[in-house]
Amino acid sequence: MKERIFRRGAHGGHEPAENDQLAPQSKFKPEPRAVADEVNSSAIIIPCPTCKEPLYVKELENNLHVCPKCGAHLRLNARQRLTYTVDEASFVEWDTDVRPTDPLGFAIGNDGYATKLSASQKKTTETEAMITGRGTINGTPAAIAIADFTFMGATMGSVYGEKIARAAERATRERLALITFNASGGARMQEGLFSLMQMAKTTAAVARLGDAGLPHIAVLTDPCYGGVTASYATVADVMLAEPGARIGFAGKTLIEQNMRQKLPDDVQTADFQLKHGMIDEVVHRRDLRQVLGALLALYGTPRMLIAPPLDEATLPGARAAEPVLSAAHA
Ligand SMILES: [Zn+2]
Repeated sequence: MKERIFRRGAHGGHEPAENDQLAPQSKFKPEPRAVADEVNSSAIIIPCPTCKEPLYVKELENNLHVCPKCGAHLRLNARQRLTYTVDEASFVEWDTDVRPTDPLGFAIGNDGYATKLSASQKKTTETEAMITGRGTINGTPAAIAIADFTFMGATMGSVYGEKIARAAERATRERLALITFNASGGARMQEGLFSLMQMAKTTAAVARLGDAGLPHIAVLTDPCYGGVTASYATVADVMLAEPGARIGFAGKTLIEQNMRQKLPDDVQTADFQLKHGMIDEVVHRRDLRQVLGALLALYGTPRMLIAPPLDEATLPGARAAEPVLSAAHA
């Protein structure tokens, strides 16, 4: 097949490459911050990405990857998030057989999407940047979806979106709350229009969850940008964020360049978004399990436990369960 070349920016997406090693064309530039796989390397001591103090990796792990000196919340991969938040051994993963494909034959020079996918899968041992399943938090069951920033910057492609949509649909059928842990650089440019379609698909799926009287609780973690912020992640019933998380659509520098004016230094931080009404609370990582457990209990008792399971066909706006996109269902 003739090699096709796609240029960044054709669809307005912006994808920070994993480990913050940014492609030269990238418009979204997260500040350097240690990510899970770096922390998991063989190093015994690493500098805190925020206060630069030397930290023992062991001590960091025992402190949920929160810097004991300055309180910076370092990024977690999906499995670490699972360990820190979901009750031990309660998680049953869904849709592990839905794997990404390369629908556009995307390549820049010799750097093909298929190669990049395969390298990310090998590095993270995940098949995609999103894992979903059912687990309990403080004893209350919920559908749980966790983005993994170490996998291609947790960009939302067709499989990422498909897994979110399926998780919302299963939550609706099984009368579970949906908790999403979100971090993303936006739409996955290598899947072009297929990525953008996920915004509508995921938003529609969580809307049907809401129509069935079930809550969606979103936790925004660092960094949460682009098509994820602009779709399902910010239409939740309750929106929480971790301290210091940066949350926005386009990056600050890009906005400043377009508006030709300086933005406040703290723009797009969790505290800024709280102050301006975009999120409901900033929650320290050590408190997250308790807060989510309390929210599940508050939402769950009257609606999820008493109301009978709904027939999917009778749900408002019900549609056939077939996936909309070309995620690799085969
Ligand atoms: Zn620190």
